[in-house]
Amino acid sequence: DVMLDLNFFIKVIEDMGKLTEENRNYWTKLDSDIGDGDHGINLSIGFRAIKKYMDETDLSNTDIKGFLKKVGMTLLGKVGGASGPLYGTLFMKMASPLTEETEVTSEQLAEMIIQGIEGIESRGKATVGEKTMVDALEPGKQVLAENKATITTETLNEFEVKMQEGAESTIPMVAKKGRALRLGDRAIGYKDPGAESSQMLLKVLADHLSQ
Ligand code: ADP
Ligand code: MG
Ligand code: MG
Repeated sequence: DVMLDLNFFIKVIEDMGKLTEENRNYWTKLDSDIGDGDHGINLSIGFRAIKKYMDETDLSNTDIKGFLKKVGMTLLGKVGGASGPLYGTLFMKMASPLTEETEVTSEQLAEMIIQGIEGIESRGKATVGEKTMVDALEPGKQVLAENKATITTETLNEFEVKMQEGAESTIPMVAKKGRALRLGDRAIGYKDPGAESSQMLLKVLADHLSQ
């Protein structure tokens, strides 16, 4: 079994930060089509604050749980907008099954991701079909839930594909949650920004796990 230590999680978060800088304008453009045009900016503010914390902290005194909680709390505290508390909850809930582990298995990580996604779902109260990040995350969660006894490269590929398809599925939808709600039919034809950012961010995690 692969054992994933704090360094694994540090690298994942660093790469999520890089991805966010690269896609800051793209995610903001998606949000200017059907929202208020700040989604990429919001996430960039959050991941820059996380980078500042990582640069200024001696992480050798931190465990996986403490690190993920800090990441979640930073997103929760620094990101204005709906996505901050939702992504904050993802990382806080990922941390919640842990105690003082210095390493986790891929199967434990799958369970952590399941809990994180369920955290987003209970916080935002969105279900599949409402044109939110849940449309990307819930199909991914199902793949993990069905395969959590043994996480293979195939499982991780399917996890990524289902989330990508989930993000695509938001294009023809009318929104039932979030800012796009008030657009009614005018939201049809546009991809939900949070669905796109969440499938891309969780792909970073899955890619690190398949290596
Ligand atoms: P804001 O809309 O407050 O400006 P962002 O632009 O950062 O915040 O994030 C918008 C994204 O948040 C949407 O594209 C959608 O995916 C997600 N979102 C909004 N409300 C909810 C909700 N209740 N549940 C799940 N996701 C939501
Ligand atoms: Mg916005
Ligand atoms: Mg906003």
